[in-house]
Amino acid sequence: MIEYEIHGPKSQELSLKRVVLALQENRFPQAVLIDGAAGIGKKKLAIELMQALLCTHPEKRPCGKCFGCKSALAPEVAEQWLIPLKAEEAKAKTAEEMTSRSKSTSVEEFTSSYAKKILENPYAIDYLPPESIISIDLVRALNKKFTLRSPTARCVIIAEAERMNTEAANAFLKTLEEVPDNTYFILTTPSKDLLLETIRSRCSSIHLQTWTDEEIKYEFQKQFSREISPDNLGLCLGSFGRAIFFDEYIESTSSLAVSFITLAYEKRYSDLFLLLQQAGSKIELDSALLLLDVLSFLLVDITRAQANLPLRLPETFSKIPVSLLEHTSPKSVQIALNKVQETSKILAGRSTSIMMTLQTLAIKLFDGEL
Ligand SMILES: [Zn+2]
Repeated sequence: MIEYEIHGPKSQELSLKRVVLALQENRFPQAVLIDGAAGIGKKKLAIELMQALLCTHPEKRPCGKCFGCKSALAPEVAEQWLIPLKAEEAKAKTAEEMTSRSKSTSVEEFTSSYAKKILENPYAIDYLPPESIISIDLVRALNKKFTLRSPTARCVIIAEAERMNTEAANAFLKTLEEVPDNTYFILTTPSKDLLLETIRSRCSSIHLQTWTDEEIKYEFQKQFSREISPDNLGLCLGSFGRAIFFDEYIESTSSLAVSFITLAYEKRYSDLFLLLQQAGSKIELDSALLLLDVLSFLLVDITRAQANLPLRLPETFSKIPVSLLEHTSPKSVQIALNKVQETSKILAGRSTSIMMTLQTLAIKLFDGEL
């Protein structure tokens, strides 16, 4: 019997054991859907599965050395990836359509460049622009490749499958209805509820759990040779990808969040607007959403401190003035929290000015508070 080995944190052990068993018993499904929070290793698992499925070692898979194993780790093999693209990238010519003198970038090259980023850091949560989608053209190109039979195993990773628009999803459904022999589709998504029911029902589901604090601490130390900050550990919510992302931004965002909450509480709006304007050039959608994330956690921490519970952001929380903590009722904190969450939704809808939305939040945050 061929032995399979798939790696992952202990909190995902149950799901991984099921996967290994299916591989060993030679009944691995031809279409699987891996779901779970962003940054917990869905793409990492997808890559390992692709290696295991393409590996030809007679005893131990993935061996890491054979042609199949190596091709799974080669971003230039673009047909192994279906990755959401920006509209202008998806409109590019295919390699087949290009003339040898053409200097423009092909669809395959765009796909490979994203695949390269994923292979370099499969936990990354910010490798894709928010507007990228899986369009019908990308799915049609994929379908075309599977009209011919193949003597060897083929595997395609469909990253962020929820970004398929309806047209694309319906086209992909046709492929799923009759997956060619020797072909495996591995879809990843942060939430399978975002996919069409018809697609979900044709895929076997693998749900991945978030990591424990200990697992995050261990992996962070291993990758960065230093400890993760206590605030980042609280903010990342068991997602290693979020931890990597926050590591870069947590310091500046935390200090802005403390000023925001303090100045809003003291109703020093002109000082707050000035501060936002100074940070202005740096405040883009991602950083504004991150600021709101930190604000929510700080508000939750106010309630947690009042109830003597451990804090999520101990370092940042310690910078909030005591008067604010003493004079804020749990109810007003809850109201403020709702306002922050509403603001996140408004910003994510991207129809308003970021600066104005943040200013409105500042004025409303402790509305009615003494
Ligand atoms: Zn191999």
